Amino acid sequence: MKEPPRIGPPREVAPERAETSRAPEAIETPKAPPRLAPPGQPPSEPHSAAPNDHDPSHDHDPSHDHDPSHDHDGEIAACRPRYMPRGGLDDAEGATVPPGLAVFDSHVHLFPAGVFEAIWRWFDANAWPVRYRLHAEEVIAFMKARGVKRFCALHYAHKPGIAAGLNRFVWALSRSHPEIVPLATVYPGEPDAQAVIEYALGELGMRGVKLHCHVQRMAADDPRLEFVYRHCTMAQVPVVIHAGREPSSSAYGVDTRALCAAAQIERVLRRHPRLNVVVPHLGADEFDDYARLLGQYGNLWLDTTMAIADYFPGAAPASLFPGMADRMLYGTDFPNLPYAWDRELHRLVAAVPDEAVQRKVLYDNAARLFGD
Ligand SMILES: [Zn+2]
Repeated sequence: MKEPPRIGPPREVAPERAETSRAPEAIETPKAPPRLAPPGQPPSEPHSAAPNDHDPSHDHDPSHDHDPSHDHDGEIAACRPRYMPRGGLDDAEGATVPPGLAVFDSHVHLFPAGVFEAIWRWFDANAWPVRYRLHAEEVIAFMKARGVKRFCALHYAHKPGIAAGLNRFVWALSRSHPEIVPLATVYPGEPDAQAVIEYALGELGMRGVKLHCHVQRMAADDPRLEFVYRHCTMAQVPVVIHAGREPSSSAYGVDTRALCAAAQIERVLRRHPRLNVVVPHLGADEFDDYARLLGQYGNLWLDTTMAIADYFPGAAPASLFPGMADRMLYGTDFPNLPYAWDRELHRLVAAVPDEAVQRKVLYDNAARLFGD
């Protein structure tokens, strides 16, 4: 398996050397405030700095190399900082969440062992080295040991025929670990898709549905998703849909930048006004469009997952905090991370000093949306 190119971020480490635990005194305090772009500034400019401005390795940043999957975009694509593949960070991690903070992680992944391993192989080759190679029960133990109070378990079916089994797997874990909010998946277009969703939201009582436009190669406003939106509306549970066009990769077998656009989510929000829609990664990289939609549609929510970790090129827009704090959710993508599990948590706390806003984003909003 080809190693992902080593680029940008400081003190890269090969995944097999990545540490998964550290002493409490190793808690990293961000030295500089996170670089949040001022309102109105494009979040990701061509040739903008990658995570470490002063790292000489950025003199030639391979993330700017031409991606042949974007040939039709011509010059612009050739210059756009690329989200993936990207190297891992050997940043320090804390032993627990900072004292006094209640944390609800709305974006954690749980899969059966074989699926996790296949995903990690894909990440190694196409995205980033996964630092926490933990299977489902280990993920749960890790989160609990660090003081994360609650978390959503997300998974997604990348092909027909596996959604029902994945749903059962996550549902069973949630029965023995009440900290887990289990979300279901479905592969739209598979013959029993309707039954899969009805069973998951009905008999199993799962608390929402996760969809992934890149992996499932489907636009958010694809008619094949209508039944999912209708069922979620009826069951009064949210749909979490990776509808942002980044991180793009030709390895998805689809041009995600051509497939996804904020305008599609706007159509869904308008068509289903009683459906709560969560878009992960703050809608990367159409941050300004999603900030506008968040202000305009009371049924849109955004999760922060990996978008404010100071890892990808460009910067998340400061305009999303704190004005929109009522529908922002903290999320991590744990365990599939290239950096410390609490990296984003520390950056969020530093970026949003108002404790009332912190409480909303770190816990209260998710509790309101998914149930406490
Ligand atoms: Zn994720």
